[in-house]
Amino acid sequence: MVFKSLFSGAKPQQNDSSDTATGLNARDLARQQLMDDIGHFLLGNDLEISEENLSAAFGICSGHDAELARRVTERRAAGQPVTQAWLDEQCRHGEDAVERMADKLERSLETFATTSRNARATAAQYNSEMQVHVDKASEAEEQAEILNLAELARAMLERTKHLEQEMHRSEREAATLRSNLAKARRDADHDHLTGLPNRRAFESLIDQHYREAQASLDALSVAFCDIDNFKSINDTHGHDTGDRVIQAIASSLAKISGDNCHVARHGGEEFVMLFRGSGKKEACQQLDEVREAFSQRNFINRRTDEPIGQITFSGGVADVFAYKSPREALKAADVALYAAKEQGRNRIVAA
Ligand code: GH3
Ligand code: MG
Ligand code: MG
Repeated sequence: MVFKSLFSGAKPQQNDSSDTATGLNARDLARQQLMDDIGHFLLGNDLEISEENLSAAFGICSGHDAELARRVTERRAAGQPVTQAWLDEQCRHGEDAVERMADKLERSLETFATTSRNARATAAQYNSEMQVHVDKASEAEEQAEILNLAELARAMLERTKHLEQEMHRSEREAATLRSNLAKARRDADHDHLTGLPNRRAFESLIDQHYREAQASLDALSVAFCDIDNFKSINDTHGHDTGDRVIQAIASSLAKISGDNCHVARHGGEEFVMLFRGSGKKEACQQLDEVREAFSQRNFINRRTDEPIGQITFSGGVADVFAYKSPREALKAADVALYAAKEQGRNRIVAA
């Protein structure tokens, strides 16, 4: 198979927990499974092997883009094909929504400014015309001028009323767009299930803290967390219960977040964390306290009242400045996470 031959180029690591049939350890097997899934998705749907398609396929197959995965499942269930045009449309949709709204707001503000300019010009024009008639009327006290004045005042009132309505409409439109835009900007940076910042927001956060911590010589570490045996929770108790478990872990991790600790949902059932001012040892300690407290809880399926029992997660932590870049440090934390899984789960391992 295509991906098998690609994989065989790199020599997979071997250790005690390797699969004797394939010689691959659990992490390699998971990675090969993901590559196979991505390959099947692209080849099965006759999609090009392009950067965009690989990224979309990764999001769908790894569960990192749960929303896109859901839309693909819905489309398949409806018996419709996943074509290039459809996939492009789905990928564009999320990215462009905020930009489209910002454009619309800008246009609405332009219309509002034009309406205001027109209103000011009209008022100024009526004012000067009125002044002429008022001058004439007071000089000559002529009946005709007074009539002219009344006529002009009536026309002016009507025009002003119309402009006022237009201005109100523009104001309302701009206010709605502004609040939609603020919500869209919030949504673009937040995960809707947990309310935590998403991967995109975390990436800019880590870049910002990396620069600041470099300048102030603060320690900086990152962690990757992943729920243990989460598939079986989904399989046994359903996806909704699985979602609630994700929310419960998110809120436990969020409890230690603050100015020096940030938590984000990286995608699926994975979370990433950033510890400013903490080296990997201290970060491990902080995270281990959350892990320990969480593992003591007993969960119940809210829908069926069936006991779920204890739920655990594992984590890997790395010192950011021990690596060339924050991305490399995140990779190291991910490798440490796999080590935690292989050592039996429900533990935090330092890279
Ligand atoms: P491990 O201990 O090795 O991590 O085992 P696991 O069962 O947790 O394995 P894995 O990480 O591969 O499974 C992740 C599962 O999470 C697969 C996917 O269907 C599910 N998942 C991803 N995103 C969501 C989500 O938003 N909601 C729910 N309910 N499930 C999700
Ligand atoms: Mg996972
Ligand atoms: Mg897991």
